[in-house]
Amino acid sequence: MVQGSCFCGAVRYQAAGPFDSMMSCHCSMCRKHHGAAFATYVSTPLEGFRWVAGQNTLLRYQSSPQGMRNSCSVCGSTVPMTLDAQALALLPAGPLEGELGIRPQAHMFVGSKAPWYTISDGLPQHEEYPPEFGMKGLARPTLKPRPGVTEGSCLCGAVAYEASGEPLSMQNCHCLRCRRARAAAYGTNLFYKDTQFLWKRGVERVGQYKLPEARFYTTAFCRQCGGGVPRVSSDRGMAVIPAGSLDTDPPLRPQRHIFTNYKAAWFELTDSLPRFAEAPPSA
Ligand SMILES: [Zn+2]
Ligand SMILES: [Zn+2]
Ligand SMILES: [Zn+2]
Repeated sequence: MVQGSCFCGAVRYQAAGPFDSMMSCHCSMCRKHHGAAFATYVSTPLEGFRWVAGQNTLLRYQSSPQGMRNSCSVCGSTVPMTLDAQALALLPAGPLEGELGIRPQAHMFVGSKAPWYTISDGLPQHEEYPPEFGMKGLARPTLKPRPGVTEGSCLCGAVAYEASGEPLSMQNCHCLRCRRARAAAYGTNLFYKDTQFLWKRGVERVGQYKLPEARFYTTAFCRQCGGGVPRVSSDRGMAVIPAGSLDTDPPLRPQRHIFTNYKAAWFELTDSLPRFAEAPPSA
């Protein structure tokens, strides 16, 4: 039995398996809903899937005619989708505990992948859905870049922001908190000074959740779509942007992997970025 939960633990679920497919999706909807570079999903028969807790705290958002995306309304992290017509459950692999018996098989929607992310493994890459899915993707408008300004928004577009100038850093974090918060292989965060950051709209829709035992760790999300949005901390003088929410290409690339001791067992690091088993020395 494989178990999973959202970041705050309000929503918990389990699946008996077997897990039939495992795909990393780079579409803008997955990137924005998770706030991550890409989302990795496993599919499993619906009959072996069960919500253990929190089914009444789900935030449901219709992102496309076929797609009802679920997140936790308390903490915003993405939780499984159930496809009744196909009798399937699609589980975000990031927070799963237990042996899946499957590894990522392919990348899909690489035609709309984040410009700041380079696929470095040897898995097959599909521009949209793999042919066997028999479906077409949805075209999404792209934002025209403005010099010196990095922009982003949530999945539904209600919340939007911009940041000016050079970011402080950009890093991939594999800790369990990030994996649960982003429900993805890892979280990629872009850090700016809070004074470089500006909400353009929808700040009143931003929900936040701070882990009770954490010193700082807080997630922020759109309360309408569940999409990951920046967390601005005036105490720390910092804005932390979940890179999946970006609409334009930032002037920096991920610089390192951190907390790799806690990385998902199914995810293999194949790029040449520096790796830190715990926090990097300067942090
Ligand atoms: Zn939660
Ligand atoms: Zn997707
Ligand atoms: Zn939204």
